[in-house]
Amino acid sequence: MYELKTDASFDSAHFLADYHGKCENLHGHRWRVEVTIGVDDSNLGTTGTERDMVQDFGAFKRTVRDMVAEFDHMFLVEEGTLAPATIAALEGEGFQLKLLPFRTTAENLARHLFERLRDEGLPVSAVEVDETPNNRAIYRA
Ligand SMILES: [Zn+2]
Repeated sequence: MYELKTDASFDSAHFLADYHGKCENLHGHRWRVEVTIGVDDSNLGTTGTERDMVQDFGAFKRTVRDMVAEFDHMFLVEEGTLAPATIAALEGEGFQLKLLPFRTTAENLARHLFERLRDEGLPVSAVEVDETPNNRAIYRA
C-alpha cells in the first residue's frame, strides 16, 4: 500500500453542550488536520502527470486546504445548542457561525472531513484532528 499525508490548520471557536468542565464555555483552538490517502500497490496512477503517484501532491493539498478553509475563523456551533435569538444576535453583530449537525468534538470533525473528502473522490484512509498539540482524534473507515 502507498500512502500520502498532508496537513492543514484552522482557527475556530466552539463549546461543547452537555459537557461538565472547561469545554462547556466558549473557547478557541488552532485545529490541525492531517489527512492520509492511500491505494494498493497495483493502483498507482498509470498515465500522464499522476503516473506512479497516489495523486498529485498539489491537487491533494489544494483539496484539503480548500475544505479546511471553510472552518477558519468561524464559530462552530452544534445545531440546537444555542437559542435562535442568540444566533440572530451573534449574526446581527457580524459574527460568522458555522452550524453543524453534530457535536463539535475532534472525533466528529475528523469523521465529517473524512466523509466529505471521500465524497470528493479522494481515497482517504484516515483523518486526524488535533484539538491541542497533545490531543488527537483519528477517524478511519
Ligand atoms: Zn475545545
